[in-house]
Amino acid sequence: MVITDWPESRARFARARTSLVGGVSSGLRAQMRPLPLSFDSADGARMTDADGNRYLDYMLAWGPLFLGHGHPAVVAAVGEQLHRAQAFGAGHRLEYETAELLLEITPGAERVLWSNTGSEAVQVALRLARAATGRQRFVKFAGHYHGWQDNVLINYRGADALDDSRPVPTSAGQSAAAMSDARIARWNDLGSLERLLADPANDVGAVILEPVLANSGLIEPAPGFLQSVRELCDRYGQVLIFDEVITGARLALGGAREFYGVIPDLSTMAKGIASGFSLAAVVGRRDILGLALGGVVHAGTYNGSPIALAAAHATLATLRETRPHAHASALAATLATGLASAFARAGLPATAHAVGPIAQLVLGPERPVGVEDYLASDFAAYDDVLEAMAARGSLGLPGGRWYVSAAHTADDIAETVAAAESAAAALAG
Ligand code: PLP
Repeated sequence: MVITDWPESRARFARARTSLVGGVSSGLRAQMRPLPLSFDSADGARMTDADGNRYLDYMLAWGPLFLGHGHPAVVAAVGEQLHRAQAFGAGHRLEYETAELLLEITPGAERVLWSNTGSEAVQVALRLARAATGRQRFVKFAGHYHGWQDNVLINYRGADALDDSRPVPTSAGQSAAAMSDARIARWNDLGSLERLLADPANDVGAVILEPVLANSGLIEPAPGFLQSVRELCDRYGQVLIFDEVITGARLALGGAREFYGVIPDLSTMAKGIASGFSLAAVVGRRDILGLALGGVVHAGTYNGSPIALAAAHATLATLRETRPHAHASALAATLATGLASAFARAGLPATAHAVGPIAQLVLGPERPVGVEDYLASDFAAYDDVLEAMAARGSLGLPGGRWYVSAAHTADDIAETVAAAESAAAALAG
C-alpha cells in the first residue's frame, strides 16, 4: 500500500506553526519529507502516525532507541522510579550503580561524569582537556559533528566546510571568538593532523573526533588511523576525545573503544545509553575527570536525573545481557545491500553500506571515501527517496542514516527492501 496523503499530520503541522517556531522542536526536523509527520504511539520497531499509518522506524528518535520503542525493561525501570521520586538534585544510588555498569562495559574507562545532552558532554570534555594541558585550542576534523555550540559547529556543512585553513561557521550568529579555539584537520589525513599538533604555536590541547564519521556519510577510519592519532596525541601531549554520542554502546557493547581496539583519554556518550531519555556522559581517565573536583566547573540542574538514570541502567543492563549488536549489525548489512540493489536495479545511482548496526544510503555513484564525496552526493534525490519510502511505510533519516535496533527482525528488513523496490520503480518511472 502506498500512502498518498497525511491529512491529520498536515493539519497538526499547520497548527504547530502558529505557535512553535517552524512547527518543530529541533531545526533539522523541519526537513523531514513528505512533511514533519506527527506521531501518536510506538512499539518495538514500529511507529504509528496521527493518520493511523504504521511505519518501520529506522530513525530511532535520531539514534537513541537502540533497544527499540517501549522496551519492557526500560519502561518498567522508569515507571518504578517515577513512583519513587522524579528528581532529587542530590545523591542517589542510580548515579553510581549506572556509572559502575558503564565502566564495566567500556574498555579502559575509570570514571564517569553525568550530563544531559551530547552537546553538553562535549563542552565538559573540552574544558577538562584545556585544564589538563593548560593549552587553549583543540583540533576537530572537517565534516564531524559535535553538537550545536559555537566552538564546535564549524566546518561541518556548506560550501566552505572542507576549507581546513580556518574555522567556518555553520550557523548564523556564531561567536567568532569561540570559533578561534579550533584548528581543522582532514579526516583520515594523518599529515594534516600532525602539522597542527607538532607546532607548539598552535597551542593545541585536545583532539576530538567521531571514531566513525557517522554524521557525514558513515565514513570509517582508515585501517590504523585511530591508533596513529592515539600515538600522535601521546607524542605531542594532547588529550584524545572520542565523541561516541552515536557509537557508544552501539557499535559494540564497549562502543568504538572495543570495535577498533583504541583507547582515547575521554569519550562522550549519549544516544546509545539511555533509550531516548536525556542523559549524556563523559567517561575516561580518572586523573583528567578528577579535575572536575579541583576547579573545572561541571554544573547542571538536571545532571544525574533519576528518571534518565533508571532508563540508562535498564538499557545498559539489557545490552550487557542480550548483546543485540551482532543481530542488529547483520540486519543493517542486509538492509544496506537490499537498499543499494533496489535503487541500482531501477537505474538510480545509489550506494549503501553499514558499520555495525548503522546503514548509510548515499545517492551517488560510489561509496563515499572522503567527506567531499558525501557532500557532493545528490541530497535532493535522497530526499525524494526518503519521501517515497515513507509513503511505503519505512522511515529513514535525512542525510542518509538508517539505524537498526535490537527490535528489528529479518522480516522487517525484507519488508523495507520490498518497499525500496517499489519506491525505486516509482522514482525511475
Ligand atoms: N556528537 C555527535 C557525534 C552527535 O551525533 C551529536 C548529535 O547528533 C552530538 C554530539 C550532540 O548531541 P545532542 O544532540 O544530544 O546535544
